[in-house]
Amino acid sequence: MKAVVVKEGGVLEVQDAAEPEPGSDQIKVKIAYAGICGSDPKIVAGHYMPIPTVGAIGWPEPPPRPAAKEGVRFLGHEASGTIVKIGKDVKGNFKVGQHVAMNFRSVCGGCYYCQNKMEHFCERAMIFMGLMAEYAVFKESLVYPLPEDLPLDVGAFLEPVSVAVHTLDIAHIKIGDTVIITGGGAIGLLVLQLAIKSGASKVLVSEPIAEKRKLAKQLGADVVVDPLKEDLLAIANTVTDGRGFNVCIEESGIPAIAKQLILLAERCGTIVLAATYPQGVEIGVPLEYMYGRELSIRSVLISPYSFPRAVQMLPKLNLKPLITVYPMKEVVKAFEAHKAGKGIKIMLQP
Ligand SMILES: [Zn+2]
Ligand SMILES: [Zn+2]
Repeated sequence: MKAVVVKEGGVLEVQDAAEPEPGSDQIKVKIAYAGICGSDPKIVAGHYMPIPTVGAIGWPEPPPRPAAKEGVRFLGHEASGTIVKIGKDVKGNFKVGQHVAMNFRSVCGGCYYCQNKMEHFCERAMIFMGLMAEYAVFKESLVYPLPEDLPLDVGAFLEPVSVAVHTLDIAHIKIGDTVIITGGGAIGLLVLQLAIKSGASKVLVSEPIAEKRKLAKQLGADVVVDPLKEDLLAIANTVTDGRGFNVCIEESGIPAIAKQLILLAERCGTIVLAATYPQGVEIGVPLEYMYGRELSIRSVLISPYSFPRAVQMLPKLNLKPLITVYPMKEVVKAFEAHKAGKGIKIMLQP
């Protein structure tokens, strides 16, 4: 089969790889679409998180993975597809031909964190990357059947939607709350839609790219702001009668914007840092101001306990306008487009 690999030095390539076969408790999926995540270029560049080198991960027993040459790594963790093979010990009600989307992170269920409602900090979590490929195998707990009439490209949004669902869990929007979202990328625009469904009375999206602002408006943002050309603070004051927003959600990944967002929160407001940030960067928090306003600052890592609800929300969200598809063989072009901010969610089609 063909698979996207990252060679040492951050070179992307489609290579031949051995087709994985499912273990007795695993499900084999023919991948239909695999999304490029904001974290993927960082993984390619090698300065984000440890890349699972083939054979380096696997607990309690390493899943069969496509064989690769030394130093070659697999990429991709957001995907949908069709079940082609089911191991004989799989207990769930899965069928060959079924449309599914996958979680990429399997937790042990037995460690301190798993047993204390924090599975995202599982001490023995196992990461399944490598979904930018024709086939992949999964433990059944990672496979989620999709509604039959749901297009598979929309299905590939499952993992990002799960992150947005968890962000909403943390943000705790109440009916009538005012909300600001800084950053109109994929997660920002998903959070926008979920915030509206959660009862936000007014949502402002701040985003420098015109195309993304236009989409935010189409998807229901009440106000869109270009933070590079407009005075966000002044507009925020006008929109909220000078009080600030009840919920402030940071999706840009830019430390200066995270800092500014603290100043845009209403009294008793919640600031949610829901992006990835450069390592080692600090932002000053005005303590007297925090004291005087009873603010909460929260953060989002990934998406514990969110996949079942994300599946339910997939048909309820407007996702088609966010999708751009490239054939997998054009992976280099697709990553260039992603890095240039073209398209909201770029997906590869094997
Ligand atoms: Zn992702
Ligand atoms: Zn665990």
